[in-house]
Amino acid sequence: MNKMFINGVYVSASSGENISVLSPETGLEIAQIPRGMSADVDSAVAAARSAFNGEWGKKTATERGRILTKICELTLRDIDELAAIESEDTGKPLELAKADIKALARYFEFYGGAADKIHGETIPYLDGYSVSIVKEPCGVVAHIIPWNYPAQMLGRTIAPALTMGNTCVVKPAEEACLTSLRFAALTLEAGLPKGALNIVTGYGAEAGAALSSHSGINMLTFTGSPVVGRMIQESTANNHVRCVLELGGKCPQVVFGDANLDKAVPGIVNGILQNSGQTCSAGSRVLVEKKIYNEFVSRLSEMFNSSKVGPSNSSPTCGPIITRKQFEFVSNCVNDALSRDIPVIGKGKICSTANVNGNYVAPIAFGPVKPDDFLAKEEVFGPVLSVLTFESEEEAIELANSTEYGLVAGVWTENGARQIRVSKGIECGQVFINCYGAGGGVELPFGGVRKSGYGREKGLQALNEFCETKTVVNSYS
Ligand code: ADP
Repeated sequence: MNKMFINGVYVSASSGENISVLSPETGLEIAQIPRGMSADVDSAVAAARSAFNGEWGKKTATERGRILTKICELTLRDIDELAAIESEDTGKPLELAKADIKALARYFEFYGGAADKIHGETIPYLDGYSVSIVKEPCGVVAHIIPWNYPAQMLGRTIAPALTMGNTCVVKPAEEACLTSLRFAALTLEAGLPKGALNIVTGYGAEAGAALSSHSGINMLTFTGSPVVGRMIQESTANNHVRCVLELGGKCPQVVFGDANLDKAVPGIVNGILQNSGQTCSAGSRVLVEKKIYNEFVSRLSEMFNSSKVGPSNSSPTCGPIITRKQFEFVSNCVNDALSRDIPVIGKGKICSTANVNGNYVAPIAFGPVKPDDFLAKEEVFGPVLSVLTFESEEEAIELANSTEYGLVAGVWTENGARQIRVSKGIECGQVFINCYGAGGGVELPFGGVRKSGYGREKGLQALNEFCETKTVVNSYS
């Protein structure tokens, strides 16, 4: 039985109840996790507060950086064990899980190295005054994270928070939290003081809601659905707690007639099929200039037809959908599109060794899809691609901006002036030109506009989110 991690100790839920964790590959139980509730969240927040006022709060920036760097080293030391847990818990192919654990380590390397390089400023002010701008930690930060990249999300949110001297209470997704529980022991081994990191497992409506509405937190980061994102905003508003929210996307990949299709088509296929489309920044919507539609679609069809979904040991293009609920949603979206006779461009296969009770959805590309269709506007979060057409650059930009989301976009064209015009025209947080990095890039500031959320994670910019600016005015005359 797995236990939660509070104040440096593995503990059961105070209620004594557990939640069953099911394998995405077989539907069978692989573990149990504690069903944390408000009493457990109270203990975790209290532990985080005392670490903030105590040992962690008193560390110098250099000391914090060294501990984070050590966490990176230990994560890489145990990469095989952590990747095996991540793969079993999420159904990801082992290689992808390994890449995710490397990214988890990389977050600690990147932010650990930055810890003592974040300096304040001075401001020339009135005669006889000296003014300094100081960056201070927020205090106790709550982190509510989803199931699609459990290890990466953990690193992305706690590494910058710890770097700035905050302490953390994490509520991982109930469907996929086994890696974070195992990882917690490494932080202790690396010298992170007890209470600086706490992990409370449980359901969103119980542990998650108790954490987001807790009066003892100073800041919150959330990655998940827009519906829950709104609930989180409401509950944190009651305590005037600041949030960073990343709520998904319906990211466009815009392909112009002069694009290098040898590069564009594989980039686009990988941008949707990586992690079975369960990526907020998945390029799930391709906008193709009409004059190259036939050529583009014939290449796309070939790649989709040769893709396969299956268990980790079958070297699949992608693995199963992580949860049964999401599997049903994705399957319904596909069946609905088929019943409405939306043309299928290409469809992959389910491996013959796949368990019939696994959450397997064959990769599928539809097109042409009408711009106002559900498939063109809404997040499916599965290996489902929609292809639309456009005739002019203006129309391409208009279509790219025609959903409520604005997270990431891809632009494929050899025309330099157009690259700049289109990347300026698309409303979102990241634009990739002649490449696409769904989910990648620890160094690259990431976040959205509109329904995709607000605030920026990743890169040095994330550090601004995890601190408060204090202006100190000193009269020396
Ligand atoms: P998804 O639809 O991808 O499962 P959710 O937004 O439901 O995404 O979940 C993302 C995270 O938010 C998970 O850790 C989940 O437990 C948590 N969560 C779900 N509901 C709530 C809630 N009412 N309050 C706080 N956290 C929640």
